[in-house]
Amino acid sequence: MFLQRIAFGASALVFSLPALAQSDPEFARCLSQLRGPALQAGVRAETFDRHTRDLVPDMSVIERLNFQPEFRLPIWDYLAGLVDQERVDEGRAQLQRHAQVLQKVQERYGVDPATVVAVWGVESNFGQSFGRYPLVQALGTLSCHGRRQGFFRGEFYATLRILQAGHIAPERLTGSWAGAFGHTQFMPSTFERLAEDFDGDGKADLMDSVPDALASTAHFLQKAGWQAGQSWGFEVRLPQGMGIAGEGRRTRRPMSEWSARGLRLVDGSPLPASGNAGLLAPAGPDGPAFLVLRNFDALFSYNAAESYGLAIAHLSDRLRGGGPFVTPWPTDDPGLSRAERRELQGLLILRGHDIGPVDGMLGERSRAAIRIEQERLGQEVDGRGGQKILRALRGG
Ligand code: CA
Repeated sequence: MFLQRIAFGASALVFSLPALAQSDPEFARCLSQLRGPALQAGVRAETFDRHTRDLVPDMSVIERLNFQPEFRLPIWDYLAGLVDQERVDEGRAQLQRHAQVLQKVQERYGVDPATVVAVWGVESNFGQSFGRYPLVQALGTLSCHGRRQGFFRGEFYATLRILQAGHIAPERLTGSWAGAFGHTQFMPSTFERLAEDFDGDGKADLMDSVPDALASTAHFLQKAGWQAGQSWGFEVRLPQGMGIAGEGRRTRRPMSEWSARGLRLVDGSPLPASGNAGLLAPAGPDGPAFLVLRNFDALFSYNAAESYGLAIAHLSDRLRGGGPFVTPWPTDDPGLSRAERRELQGLLILRGHDIGPVDGMLGERSRAAIRIEQERLGQEVDGRGGQKILRALRGG
């Protein structure tokens, strides 16, 4: 992707490549304006020139930046795909495969193996999906187009410094459209703060070294305040009719207060005697509810979303041998695992719908086909892939 050429000055960037300049003079001008700030931010001139000389913008990342989803996944769909039996089985295999490294990681950072592996499983499906966007191109584009250019410029310079330091080969450095990369999807600035060279080869390689990636994730959680030996929290049973307005992750109350208000562990036993916890009920008082402790905040900080934190937390419990949530989600149409999504896609293809490859993702084309089938079957037409449409199509 990145043609390596002998370095020229910034002006040569524009004038030596008339084709590029003609195709996108605005982008070339923007890059040349970023050169000075990049150099001030510690990027060497030759690094900047080498990696930007042949750079063309990828406007698809701007589409991603501006994309407003037509609907938000209900939390039960989100979790059904992220914490399914496949991921639990794969995670347990990875726990065994990397047991020695994970043990050393726990000794150094105080984060247990199941938690580290759960982050890995949710972030990149254990290294199976890193994202396909060349990072320099994606962040270069986001630095010059669209919203939040200031933020992305910082990440762009960080990317160039990572390449300059030789941690990762340029052709390996692909990630999400927004610049998260590697086994545990660090942003470049996060990499610079927290990436670890755990296998001792002199590079913090979050693309190709599992030990480096797992240690870096544990390091992240440690710096985010992870408390060794503590739980993230646990599922609870709420008393009938309990109001939960105003409760949340940040509204911590003593366990004694929660006990007095009638909360119990989900099996009916009493809450722990001590500690402070916030109440999380992501689908309201009729769905699964959780008391979350300090460590949940560390998981939350990885991606700044409670649903995300809950996916990591739940997967880590499942990896330790725990079961699904006890309280069902308040829906008569639960979500699908990835295996079930693939099955649904296969059934849609059998019915003649052109949905592209069976990938378990249920993207726009799958949802359009689902809408057609829902209409035919007299179901609510929302394009959502749940158990109802799957069962109906299984039945023919
Ligand atoms: Ca290394």
